[in-house]
Amino acid sequence: MSDKDSKKSAEDLQNQIQSLLRNMNVQAGFVPITSKPSEEDIDEAFDDDELLDKIREFSLKPREIRDHLNRFVIQQEEAKKVLSVAICDHYNHVRQCLTNPESKENEYYKQNIILLGPTGVGKTYLIRCIAKLIGVPFVKADATKFSETGYVGHDVEDLVRDLVKLADGDTELAQYGIIYIDEIDKIAAKNTGGFKDVSGRGVQINLLKLMEDTQVLLQSQSDFAGQMEAMMDMVNKKSSNKNRTINTAHILFIVSGAFDNLSELIRRRVKGGQIGFEPAEQRNKELSSYLTQVQTKDLIDYGFEPEFIGRLPVRVACSSLTAADLEKILTESEGSILGQYRGDFAGYGIDLDVQPSAISEIAQLAEKENTGARGLMTVLEGIFRNFKFELPSTSIKSFSLTKKIILAPEAELKKLINKGAKTELDHVKPSVKKYCDRFNNLHGLKLVFDNEAIAKISEISRDTGKTIEGICDEKFKDFEFGLRLVAGQRQKSTFTVTKSVIENPDAELSKWVVESFRD
Ligand code: ADP
Repeated sequence: MSDKDSKKSAEDLQNQIQSLLRNMNVQAGFVPITSKPSEEDIDEAFDDDELLDKIREFSLKPREIRDHLNRFVIQQEEAKKVLSVAICDHYNHVRQCLTNPESKENEYYKQNIILLGPTGVGKTYLIRCIAKLIGVPFVKADATKFSETGYVGHDVEDLVRDLVKLADGDTELAQYGIIYIDEIDKIAAKNTGGFKDVSGRGVQINLLKLMEDTQVLLQSQSDFAGQMEAMMDMVNKKSSNKNRTINTAHILFIVSGAFDNLSELIRRRVKGGQIGFEPAEQRNKELSSYLTQVQTKDLIDYGFEPEFIGRLPVRVACSSLTAADLEKILTESEGSILGQYRGDFAGYGIDLDVQPSAISEIAQLAEKENTGARGLMTVLEGIFRNFKFELPSTSIKSFSLTKKIILAPEAELKKLINKGAKTELDHVKPSVKKYCDRFNNLHGLKLVFDNEAIAKISEISRDTGKTIEGICDEKFKDFEFGLRLVAGQRQKSTFTVTKSVIENPDAELSKWVVESFRD
């Protein structure tokens, strides 16, 4: 067959596959699966070769990673240390395999990690910061969204595919990524009334396979469209079978969860059956501290398969955050949420200053939320919601967040706006007076602006950048004749300018004229 013929038959085959694909999708009601993982779950996309070089030359020391984490994450000292060591070991091993492929043959136990601890204390944040520092793709998912078969929920292998999407299709970079699975405690097979919940066990087994040295197809079995596309690529020799799969040997797996009742299990192991009589709050704090003493047996008793737990040798607990820690997050962490709010207001040219008394009040309110640092977001959102809505449309260019505002945001916002409006009026009044004097000198007619009219003129000036006198010139350029008519009819030479006159000068003037003749 000539080159031309073989090209034609490849094109024919491609057209046939495309039409088959369209029919399949229409008949089965499928939408081709092209969606990317959500932004929440994945970190920003990465840029190729430079990042691979960074991994090939990985030379960070545990202390350097810990110091980097200190810039962003408050507390969690033990977790920072353990993670720094595990990460250095893992990427040193990756570097060795890349520079000396024979070392791949040596037995190596991957340092997959379990992070235990309450919600919002920095578990994800620690890993996100590490992935950014090293420059590897990072995917986060909730264990609860996977089903045993992958038909109802997602397939665990989708996590690996998400890494590839994030690495812009670069399968090599994706092979050194980090997969973070939260809420892992929810897939423990709980013993409920003699029945073992087997679906969680199934997901554990699927994950177990993934954590080992496995080849994952880039196209999921249920992604018909993707599979057909891959076939077309093969026909067109755009890809080989080899780069249609990705190996998981070097992907680091980190699982995390709050493990609510695990501390009670550990307490019983450590202290026997003794029952404490401490107040509930103290008891909860004491209980969560038991997570640091977690052992394999506890996790198996909790409902995990021994093989699954065996693949997660690094275990570390993050502790809950006190109000003092939350204060530090606001003031010392480089990634503080307050920085984000400052940026949001700066976007409207508004300078936000935060008083120390406000910081401690926010931290105390956030602690009561019982959701770790997430409580800070909830509290700040409640305080700032209306400020963000109202202030951009006023002339206020700076404000100070005080304890008073935190305790009564609505009332204080009103006061701030009123004060701002008064200052604005005081600022604009001389220009309005200057225009009125000029109008009087020219036409012998007196204009008197009420406060609402002044505020409206001021708003127009702010929005358009025009001067007050310039705006008045435009608004009243045709007023002389009409006002003279009214003045003649009514024997008056003073006219009150209201907000509606500013908004619709011609219509209001006509009204005045008509009314003066009607009388
Ligand atoms: P989780 O422990 O549930 O994984 P996250 O790490 O997702 O909680 O925390 C949510 C957000 O709260 C983070 O993105 C970060 O902004 C902030 N945060 C949480 N813990 C800390 C901490 N220890 N230091 C600084 N910021 C933190």
